[in-house]
Amino acid sequence: MAVLSRLLFPARATAAAASISPSSTSILNSIRTAFFSSSSTTNLQSPSSPEENSLHLRRTGAERNVQWVFLGCPGVGKGTYAARLSKLLGVPHIATGDLVRHELASRGPLSEKLSEIVNKGKLVSDEFIIKLLSKRLEAGEAKGESGFILDGFPRTIKQAEILEGVTDIDLVINLKLREEALIAKCLGRRICSQCGGNYNIACIDIKSENGLPGMYMAPLLPPSSCESKLTTRPDDTEEVVKHRLHVYNEMSRPVEIFYQNRGKLLEFDLPGGIPESWPKLLRALHLDDHEDKKTVAA
Ligand code: ADP
Repeated sequence: MAVLSRLLFPARATAAAASISPSSTSILNSIRTAFFSSSSTTNLQSPSSPEENSLHLRRTGAERNVQWVFLGCPGVGKGTYAARLSKLLGVPHIATGDLVRHELASRGPLSEKLSEIVNKGKLVSDEFIIKLLSKRLEAGEAKGESGFILDGFPRTIKQAEILEGVTDIDLVINLKLREEALIAKCLGRRICSQCGGNYNIACIDIKSENGLPGMYMAPLLPPSSCESKLTTRPDDTEEVVKHRLHVYNEMSRPVEIFYQNRGKLLEFDLPGGIPESWPKLLRALHLDDHEDKKTVAA
């Protein structure tokens, strides 16, 4: 049984992204303490009982940092934009896909079964993912982290309910991109096995058609030092990407509705690559990236 008991001190600043700017984030500090205990056995795939995922929360009033969630189909760019916002706002970017891949790389007793699930594009059990996330939050809290930008969690209604039961999510950003671009982006994804850098060799050039605007996304090519060390994710084959999109539509679309019904969902259509999308996203969030402006001006 995985049990996460958390004490959280919710925000003075509420859901409105408009009220949060980089200059004000420094005063949005929180104090959180987490208690985590778990059993030694974990079910990787089958659904778990409500008790297995019980989360206990006590709250007292104080300030805390932003608690945002990124939703969106595989390949949409959740990781890219969550990482940029995390740097801008000074909060950790927690990607459950990265936690799963880290677990796989550790070659622990569950690795083989886990890779079977992940490489087929299926979801791991709510119980297992909550256990990984709890461990990550606990480690962050021990280092004094506060707030988070979650990427890849929640992905099922059960996960969303558990998260909603334990803390207030301020904002959920739902990134959207046409399916043809999503598939091309997944197939073009490359990771440097040495430095961990993420690149994309796909050049997406969709012509405008039937009233839909065209879209251009330039490739994000690796530096020559990474060229010979590029790898692809085993779940980025065409067949598995299509299955992941299917799983997203089945399991995670309802999560979008879940947050829409709670007035927390910000729908964001990506207009193209990072140069067009990042400034537009910042405007939608009423944020300003001074560093980015300096870079552009230089
Ligand atoms: P994607 O690129 O499809 O968004 P991620 O990198 O976020 O994929 O996750 C990789 C894999 O890790 C998923 O296909 C799934 O097997 C597992 N995973 C990640 N997050 C979750 C979650 N919240 N619930 C269940 N499985 C997850």
